[in-house]
Amino acid sequence: MSVYYIGVVLVYIEIGIAILIAIFLFKKILSSSPSSAIKFEIFCKKCGYRTGGLKCPRCEDPSKKQRWR
Ligand SMILES: [Zn+2]
Repeated sequence: MSVYYIGVVLVYIEIGIAILIAIFLFKKILSSSPSSAIKFEIFCKKCGYRTGGLKCPRCEDPSKKQRWR
């Protein structure tokens, strides 16, 4: 019975470690998500041109703007 009890405890310890690792990775993903969102906003959503957070020069071009809308 004691061997079985130790085995159960080890399983619970492994589950606890796995949960801690999952929480650590989840927080790491959450902390890195804002920077990735900023990087995503740097590029134009329509054509993918790098705008650096400003308006897209390609999509905001007056001659192309009339074609887009
Ligand atoms: Zn664009």
